[in-house]
Amino acid sequence: MMPPPATSPSRRCVVIGAGLSGLAAAERMAAEGWQTTIVDAAGRGGGVVETVRDDGWLVERSADNFLTTRPEALDTVRRLGLDAEILPVQATARRALVLGRGRLHAVPAGFRLMVPGRLSSILTSSLLTPAGKLRVMLERFVPASTAADESLEAFAVRRLGREAFERLVQPLVSGIWTADPARLSMAAALPDFLAMEKRSGSLRAGEKTRLLTAGGMEGTAGARYGNFVTLASGLDTLPTRWCQALRSSGVEQLHARVTAVQRTDRFQIVLEPAQSPAADAGFASPSASVLEADAVILTAAAPRAAAIIRGISQPLADELAAIDYAGSAVVCLGYPRKAVAHPLDAAGLVIPRQERRKILAVSFSSSKFPRRAPADSVLLRVFLGGALDPEAATLDDATLIKRATSDVADLLGAEGAPTLARVERWEAAMPQYHLGHLERVGRIRSLVEGIPGCGLAGAALEGVGIPQVIASGQEAARLAMHTARTDSLSKA
Ligand SMILES: Cc1cc2nc3c(=O)[nH]c(=O)nc-3n(C[C@H](O)[C@H](O)[C@H](O)COP(=O)(O)OP(=O)(O)OC[C@H]3O[C@@H](n4cnc5c(N)ncnc54)[C@H](O)[C@@H]3O)c2cc1C
Repeated sequence: MMPPPATSPSRRCVVIGAGLSGLAAAERMAAEGWQTTIVDAAGRGGGVVETVRDDGWLVERSADNFLTTRPEALDTVRRLGLDAEILPVQATARRALVLGRGRLHAVPAGFRLMVPGRLSSILTSSLLTPAGKLRVMLERFVPASTAADESLEAFAVRRLGREAFERLVQPLVSGIWTADPARLSMAAALPDFLAMEKRSGSLRAGEKTRLLTAGGMEGTAGARYGNFVTLASGLDTLPTRWCQALRSSGVEQLHARVTAVQRTDRFQIVLEPAQSPAADAGFASPSASVLEADAVILTAAAPRAAAIIRGISQPLADELAAIDYAGSAVVCLGYPRKAVAHPLDAAGLVIPRQERRKILAVSFSSSKFPRRAPADSVLLRVFLGGALDPEAATLDDATLIKRATSDVADLLGAEGAPTLARVERWEAAMPQYHLGHLERVGRIRSLVEGIPGCGLAGAALEGVGIPQVIASGQEAARLAMHTARTDSLSKA
């Protein structure tokens, strides 16, 4: 955490939303001497990231780990003094399972989302037919496309064949993006794979080069899972500690809903007081209904950001409102260890759409990380919904639990009623990076740059993962400071 600047701050910034992107933006602004206020409608930091601790269970409501191959999240954790909390995925769980023709199979070792890292593991896999395997082998000879973008489905079918797409790529990628693969933009969601094809001619050749650069280590089975970490006492330890650190460096935290932002000489941020007490007592009730600021950073989800900014820029609001979102539900189930027949020796299992199940994936939480369940119990998180099954997120709890327990009984041999059953509902929580998303983000960026002192961050733009949203908050702060400064120079 940067110490507060020695000189007294004169310029004021309001950050709307205390999710991870908002906290990152506020930290940057405060570090540069801006008098910073964060306003959050829920009255707590973390946004969708929240941990429930109950009677020996530690349940993540949404995200349960983050990738360390990008530095932003890990650096933040370390800066906040949380090094001792960092837990990698346990070595015994560093593989994934996939359902194929009713049976569970291991995802071939070295297969990274859509990259066939090791042909030997494809050849010996029980998941693909001989024809499907042969088609994957031929990936190397498929010419690279000259198109600037392609849907995930078009790209994966072209490179690996329909069978590998349907049995492997679709379920693995859906687990992350909850998206429709026929609409998901490769350029926006998975640019590294597109670049790999363009640079090396094929995914296989690109992976070879990447592994040589990475020293070969990542080629080993499960090494990718070693790049994911969580925090021992729950992922929301990160925003909780971050909010405390920001408070001690002078960042004000308010509990209110922002309904609009207007602009005359400065920004006016219009607040609606919250009806219920703040979830974090550090978030105070505002003493005024309008805040004045020289910079404003919006980090609320795109439809809400659109409504807030409409009074300043109708075109920006329209672009933001056009970003689609998908919903999902997570059913968290606890069982006595002996009630589940499967050894749960993996990070989880993913389910291809062609298997026609009601659930998308199951994360074996207590296998991935220790102390997620009481002694002799296991914790499973079952995912339902997504872009291709939008109704699931709206079903009542009893129906969702019934769907989850029935598939878990069938696939993992879980017997009897679960000792824990909790439903976490995420309606319209996952932005969808459809084809054309990058062009939209480009237009959004130009429109934001045209509003001096304005910044925009969050999962709707250039990455939904925790490191990416932290990076987006940092970048939004940089832009807001830059355009605010340029504007005051031009007025001087
Ligand atoms: C179910 C699920 C599982 C996930 N799993 C993972 C994972 O394992 N790993 C990973 O890296 N990522 C994961 N993600 C993605 C990641 O957690 C999110 O993309 C990221 O945390 C979003 O951060 P954010 O700051 O953009 O937005 P949010 O967390 O949505 O924060 C926005 C904040 O704005 C506030 N707000 C909204 N409107 C207003 C208003 N009008 N006035 C004031 N405040 C307002 C909200 O209260 C909220 O606090 C998952 C997401 C979901 C939904």
